Amino acid sequence: MSVVIAGSVALDNVKTPQDSQENLLGGSASYAALAASIFCQPIHLVGVIGHDFPKAHLDLLTAHGITLDGLERSSGESFTWTGEYHEDMNSRTTHKVGLNVLEQWQPKLPEGAKSAKIAVAANMSPDNQMQMLDQVKADFVTADTMDLWINIANERLHEVLKRIDLLVINDGEAKEFAGTTNLVEAGRKLQAKGPRFVIVKRGEHGSFLFGEKPEDFFACSAYPLHSVFDPTGAGDSFLGGLAGWLAANGKTKPTFEDLKTAVVHGSVTASYTCEAFSTHKLQTVTKADVAARIAELRAYTNFA
Ligand code: AMP
Repeated sequence: MSVVIAGSVALDNVKTPQDSQENLLGGSASYAALAASIFCQPIHLVGVIGHDFPKAHLDLLTAHGITLDGLERSSGESFTWTGEYHEDMNSRTTHKVGLNVLEQWQPKLPEGAKSAKIAVAANMSPDNQMQMLDQVKADFVTADTMDLWINIANERLHEVLKRIDLLVINDGEAKEFAGTTNLVEAGRKLQAKGPRFVIVKRGEHGSFLFGEKPEDFFACSAYPLHSVFDPTGAGDSFLGGLAGWLAANGKTKPTFEDLKTAVVHGSVTASYTCEAFSTHKLQTVTKADVAARIAELRAYTNFA
């Protein structure tokens, strides 16, 4: 069972209150693919990089069973993102986005990727998401987005919503996109635009899953971390972990109950991403690590 993930593959420059580092492996597809690879391999990664992209980053992806034949090599400069976290790690400032090779790129899926049963349109322009979705024959299609696309490509994003089974979106963006300040109403309004399932990520507060029936609602707690070092990519890791777990367990047409378990796996996988710069912690995580944290989370959230 395989997963195809398309999105950005980036060089990130990240500053936190403790430290700052440059040319880190970043991008929505990189995080999502590494997270998915914990549960299921191979993962087909579809993206674009420039001439300046370090070989070490590619070697790392390959070592985790991530297939790079859908990764285009372009002569331009790689996509870069420069951001800074403040004392409250929930707030982040984007200083610079260098679209570079991403600007003219159109995803081209190799044959093996086209037949993956689970497709992830990670954060990228809605045009790129549609171009990817035109090529997949997956049983289950998921997508993420961000405020930028809600603001500049709203109509196109509405078209994406009609083509997917699951939308994963963070709380602020869900409210903005749905035009309401109530998160439950926002989840249901987004669902009415197309996807059968919606997940609203709430950062350190966990996530909400909305299913097809009115009573299909699940509140997932976040794993309580003592220290958050760099939350970049947590959302992408959530989506990748969720998709990887579904594929690994043959849940290509998941029920609401299946998705509840998948959400818990995505959420716990994302917790590791927050513990170090870039993918430095995520790339060391095993299925057994995730299972151990899920057991802890179960104990923390169970009550009589
Ligand atoms: P997250 O923290 O889950 O929002 O994901 C952060 C990652 O998204 C970083 O590694 C960035 O390289 C990537 N990113 C930031 N802006 C964009 C964008 N406009 N399109 C695609 N990827 C982006």
